[in-house]
Amino acid sequence: TEAYIGAMEEGKSLNAFITETPEKAREMAKASDAKLAEGKGGAMEGLPIGMKDLFCTKGVLTSAGSHILDGFEPEYESTVSQNLWDAGAVMLGKLNLDEFAMGSANITSYYGNVENPWRREGGGNQKLVPGGSSGGSAAAVSGRLAIAATGTDTGGSIRQPASFCGIVGMKPTYGRCSRWGIVAFASSLDQAGPITRNVKDAALMLGAMAGHDPKDSTSANLAVPDFEAALTGDIRGMKIGIPKEYRMDGMPEEIDALWKRGAEMLKDAGAEIVDISLPHTKYALPTYYIIAPAEASSNLARYDGVRYGLRETGDSLIEMYENTRAAGFGDEVKRRVLIGTYVLSAGYYDAYYLKAQKVRALLKKDFDDAYGQVDAILTPTAPSAAFAIGENQDDPIKMYLNDVFTVPASLVGLPGISVPVGLSGDGLPLGLQLLGKPFDEETVLKVGHVLE
Ligand code: GLN
Repeated sequence: TEAYIGAMEEGKSLNAFITETPEKAREMAKASDAKLAEGKGGAMEGLPIGMKDLFCTKGVLTSAGSHILDGFEPEYESTVSQNLWDAGAVMLGKLNLDEFAMGSANITSYYGNVENPWRREGGGNQKLVPGGSSGGSAAAVSGRLAIAATGTDTGGSIRQPASFCGIVGMKPTYGRCSRWGIVAFASSLDQAGPITRNVKDAALMLGAMAGHDPKDSTSANLAVPDFEAALTGDIRGMKIGIPKEYRMDGMPEEIDALWKRGAEMLKDAGAEIVDISLPHTKYALPTYYIIAPAEASSNLARYDGVRYGLRETGDSLIEMYENTRAAGFGDEVKRRVLIGTYVLSAGYYDAYYLKAQKVRALLKKDFDDAYGQVDAILTPTAPSAAFAIGENQDDPIKMYLNDVFTVPASLVGLPGISVPVGLSGDGLPLGLQLLGKPFDEETVLKVGHVLE
């Protein structure tokens, strides 16, 4: 823990942490020492980790990367963070993220951009984005400022930053980890998961995070398997699907080559590679960017200046609401609230929101059909390597395209992992994504382990 507290100090320029809690870390580490000395201790006893600042932590600022939560210190602990403390993990601090987890580059945080620890070969000191929204988590783990970190993934926010930072990120099945105490973005999509250096750590940490929670009505009442036991390395006879619709026009050659290499690796290990079709793939991104903002506009209605954080003044109650929300939310959050309110409005509900829900059902059917033939699906995680801070910034649509490979599984609630498999031409990490059947994280981890 001392070593990581030192690394956290030295790595300040990455801006990965919003709040550092070294004293709390030392206290927790001491308690872990005492437990271990008695031969007791949980699965993560004494392991120093970072918490995405979207998880409520009792008595510690929980900002969601937003100005509107200024000074918000929850009186309760999220279920996932509590599960991790119960397993013995030590909290180093709260990690930076895109505001309310909306973004793909960690450039929308009120607390500033996060820097990717990687640099392009020959790119001098040009700073790159870590991906998003769990950019602080990915940068901290990649930069060795924490052994592991929590992330949340609504449309790719664990998997895409893991790919950009050369580490492992896993989004479990919707319902595997409790959402209780996680600041809500899009409730039918939000899911917590581990961001780690390797698949074994992901298995260990997911085991500690997961479990049924009566406080979240969508939490699955299923036993948590021994995920580490799944890492046998034996994938002989398994069928791995390659969906043709993910081979998109304009996909960079190096991403296609990486994908082929991944398929070869699995084939060499004894798996069978099967060409499959997920016909509604091209509708996933527009569907996501209707459903996620719709749910966000409803979830973010609670930030009115009365109950939490920031409060601006005004001549009337309505003016106080307006001034608080105008000052407290950043541009991307406002854009999502506007889109969400529009697609839910009486005149447009059928044309947008209802239609999107129907497409979501079709996407689910695509995956159901595919899983009749295969055990897991292999795709690229993102259409590019990390880009420079500032790039893609004034074009939201371009930014949204980052999520093209990750959102389908989010809309269907499937488990997925991103594993670093190769490097781009200019030496940046590239990840591949493995998707599994609902609640079959074991297969995802098992195959992912063979890929690393
Ligand atoms: N990049 C996507 C978005 O901006 C996904 C975010 C997430 O998964 N939290 O909505």
